[in-house]
Amino acid sequence: MEKIGITPAEEFLDLLYAVLPRDEVLPLHEPNFEGNEGKYVNDCVSSGWVSSIGKYVDQFESQLAEYTGASSVVLVVNGTVALQIALTLAGVKHNEEVIVPAMSFVATANAVSHVGAIPNFVDVSKDTLGMCPLKLLDYLKNCTEKTPLGRRNKNTKRKVSAIVPMHTFGNAVEINKICEIGLEFDIPIVEDAAEALGSFFENEHLGTFGQVGVLSFNGNKIITTGGGGALLFKNTDLGAYAKHLTTTAKVPHPWNFFHDQVGWNYRMPNINAALGCAQLEAIEEKLKKKRILAQKYKEAFKGSKNFQFFDSKLPSSPNNWLNAAMLTNPCKVVKENVIKATISNGLGVRPAWNLLNSLPMYSSCPSDDLDVSEQLFDSIINIPSSSQLVDFE
Ligand SMILES: *Cc1c(COP(=O)(O)O)cnc(C)c1O
Repeated sequence: MEKIGITPAEEFLDLLYAVLPRDEVLPLHEPNFEGNEGKYVNDCVSSGWVSSIGKYVDQFESQLAEYTGASSVVLVVNGTVALQIALTLAGVKHNEEVIVPAMSFVATANAVSHVGAIPNFVDVSKDTLGMCPLKLLDYLKNCTEKTPLGRRNKNTKRKVSAIVPMHTFGNAVEINKICEIGLEFDIPIVEDAAEALGSFFENEHLGTFGQVGVLSFNGNKIITTGGGGALLFKNTDLGAYAKHLTTTAKVPHPWNFFHDQVGWNYRMPNINAALGCAQLEAIEEKLKKKRILAQKYKEAFKGSKNFQFFDSKLPSSPNNWLNAAMLTNPCKVVKENVIKATISNGLGVRPAWNLLNSLPMYSSCPSDDLDVSEQLFDSIINIPSSSQLVDFE
């Protein structure tokens, strides 16, 4: 369906309206509460168990363990602190370095700062939109060296103590290859799977490959608890330790308040977990709708010269959290014009995040060449992705 003489912005609207209803204000991603949300939240209120004690925290933790295949799950107040605890458990210490992709939400780098460490930025791959294993390998070979105390950055002499791949918009990175590299260089993998609940790589849930994985239940994520996050573990002892650390490190006792180290008060309140239980019950239906929506976009974008629809080629099953269109010829000006015009038509679209190395607080951190990240930043436009959008007909 190629038209002559229309601008990219006009073509973009045509492509979106091949899938979406006209004359509607359609946000980028909306939560929906069509199941037991009200019932479970009311149960918390009427029973008085809204805060740090109650059955929904345990229930949501075990439902998530079952759904993801993690041996143990610990709920916390948001995804950012989940990452902070994950890095701490991976052994990251003050003044050490952590490798993160340049293209991610700011929380990935902020969590590194919150443990006193310094992010190193590496490039992402066009095939996955996430950390590129080839560039990661080159970076580790060229820019780090082996010492008796572990791998260190050749320039800064600081220890490189973790690698944090992120599954962009719910699409798997090549997590198998990144885990192999982690093993080869003896650096633990902390998976930022904040966007990836419901996504699988070779039939295994994302966030269960690394030493620790992290999920987010923020309002814009695939399911929400209002605000919330989770840590996923293969190792149940590490999970138990994470629970201890995130609940003020209190040693269980009927009446004595004894804390054996400096802990955090990061426990998810019961009322948020109640929302999570109801949301997770409905996830299959939501994933089904999101697959249909992504398929419709894929069809619509097939004939376009100016745009492509991002579609992972990996042996994976993504949750299709945020659909992404990409300019065939990356160009910041065209991208911004398209976004402005589309927003003014009431459609919720947005660019990818500004690259982390371009933010003022991270501009002097170590960084590899970021060619692909820069091109992707000039080409990605996220498009309306709520599961409700397939209910219009
Ligand atoms: C949402 C998100 C987080 C942080 O989660 P919050 O619950 O908002 O703190 C971390 N990393 C990525 C990639 C995210 O998208």
